[in-house]
Amino acid sequence: MTDLQPILLPGIDPKRPLLIAGPCSAETEEQVMNTARSLAECGVKIFRAGIWKPRTKPGGFEGVGTEGLRWLKEVKAETGMYTATEVATAKHVFEALKYGVDILWIGARTSANPFAMQEIADALEGVDIPVLVKNPVNPDLELWIGALQRIYNAGIRRLGAIHRGFSSYDKKLYRNLPQWHIPIELHRQLPGLPILCDPSHIGGKRELIAPLSQQAMDLNFDGLIIESHCDPDHAWSDAAQQVTPDVLALIVGNLVIRDTKQTTENLSLLRKQIDEIDNDLLALLARRMRVSREIGTYKKEHNMPILQEQRYEEILHKRVAQAAEMGMSEDFMRTVLVAIHEESVRHQMEIMKQD
Ligand code: PEP
Ligand code: MN
Repeated sequence: MTDLQPILLPGIDPKRPLLIAGPCSAETEEQVMNTARSLAECGVKIFRAGIWKPRTKPGGFEGVGTEGLRWLKEVKAETGMYTATEVATAKHVFEALKYGVDILWIGARTSANPFAMQEIADALEGVDIPVLVKNPVNPDLELWIGALQRIYNAGIRRLGAIHRGFSSYDKKLYRNLPQWHIPIELHRQLPGLPILCDPSHIGGKRELIAPLSQQAMDLNFDGLIIESHCDPDHAWSDAAQQVTPDVLALIVGNLVIRDTKQTTENLSLLRKQIDEIDNDLLALLARRMRVSREIGTYKKEHNMPILQEQRYEEILHKRVAQAAEMGMSEDFMRTVLVAIHEESVRHQMEIMKQD
């Protein structure tokens, strides 16, 4: 995917962040028009609204359907904003194109399904329109890249990705865990692909939109897609995470956009230090694995099981507390330890299998 084109539409400022805003769902003509007018006044140039809503369970609000596309057309005619909506089937693609929607996005439940992605890709064959692909609900980078490839193979060159977080069983702070390393790795593999962040669906709460947006800008994301509703408390879907157009303008206005292209001498020195520390870390990890293999040999000779639950719990507990004292988050330390432990177990399994 080396010949991607910018997703920029005429009249859109190339400065970061590329901003898309609008309600989670189009509900009524009045709600769409009111929200759109206020957003246009705040300077928003691309208006989003879900017309078909994928709900986790039946019975929720499943979107107004094709009727809402008429309202999007009206938004464009009256405010001059571009419009964007989610498509999940070939029929959605045809309908959205028929009504002149300017940007299509593919939702997280859809990008997780290669059959649905292929159906959408086939419907897009020969069409020139910007398409944004949200990450699949599960943290699977290959599945996300595969979804992007299907759209690319249909001939779409104005392609982008949206990071909306990953679902997890254990919902604490976030509705969907950011797992920033996944979009960062996506950028490393496909440097020409613009990536937007969706802080609304990551956070699930209004208060998290500002800090998540800032984080995305600090990580050099290209843009933001934020849910905004004229009356968020009474929204028919995702009420807790929507903000009024005024609040949205405040959030965006307060973002600090740092010039990431500038690499000063100091920065390169610091980077050198990081490289060295990473080398040390790798050498230490390799040493730890060697010791782990020795333990594996011992366990094998003494007919002991690989997993020593109590010892593992003890290590987790001690190190997490130690890390917290050293100013690192407990969650971070736990993730690192679990990964190290998994790799240790893999080494010991190898030892066990040898005869
Ligand atoms: C949405 O953007 O309203 C939406 C349904 O998002 P996601 O696919 O990320 O859940
Ligand atoms: Mn939503």
